[in-house]
Amino acid sequence: MKPEEIRYFDVHSHLNFPQFDADREAIIAEMANQKIATITVGTTVATSRQALILAEKHSHFFAAVGIHPLDARESVDGLGTLAEEKKVVAIGECGLDYSRTLTAEDKKRQRQIFEEHVDLASTTNKPLIIHCRDAYPDVLDILNAKKREVGERVRGDFHFFTSSPDIAKKCLDLGFYISFTGPITFTNQYDETVAYVPLERMMIETDSPYAAPHSHRGKRNTPLYVEEIARKIATIKGSDIDSVAKILVKNAFELFLRKNAAEF
Ligand SMILES: [Zn+2]
Repeated sequence: MKPEEIRYFDVHSHLNFPQFDADREAIIAEMANQKIATITVGTTVATSRQALILAEKHSHFFAAVGIHPLDARESVDGLGTLAEEKKVVAIGECGLDYSRTLTAEDKKRQRQIFEEHVDLASTTNKPLIIHCRDAYPDVLDILNAKKREVGERVRGDFHFFTSSPDIAKKCLDLGFYISFTGPITFTNQYDETVAYVPLERMMIETDSPYAAPHSHRGKRNTPLYVEEIARKIATIKGSDIDSVAKILVKNAFELFLRKNAAEF
């Protein structure tokens, strides 16, 4: 697959979830029609396996395998050799989520599972897809420590980014990309951060079925709505949609497919 064949790369969606059981194939066909590619992201061992099945069946689909921090009862061991599969282009989503009330024990468990993902990403040399809520200091500590150890093998994307330019700077300094989601289309609260992050370091994602952009707010989201996010970015950057779309696809290829784009 070549970047020219893709109009939008939705780097984070969950077409593997049951919300798509009734019309999954129709959405997948329409995505091909509109030249939209996606990474289907696993959140458990079971949904990681389903993400790979979709990726193996459809050329515009790729997979990420991992355990969501709020599902941290499962261990990375359960993923077995999934992470080594060719169409698995990232490890995640993984990270830390302190948005709920957690015991010290819960937090310790989350950190342990996250560190296992970071190790797995480093041994397989694949990028990470990071989920981080109310936990930036700990996430950045873990990533920085690993980076001192293994260098560029620690890389990835901070998914669903809604933090300040200050925190964005820390993620960029680490060499990571930042991806933006539907909420940037219905509030100006994130404009400053979007303006701050260079176009060359950002990507777009829907996080379908969640977080639908303005025109479908509150309803089920699908990767078919990804363009609305790109339009908002173009507006904030004072650029045209075609150039923005092209750069966003290039970024996704560089992070997720750079080693083996020719193989897909
Ligand atoms: Zn997600």
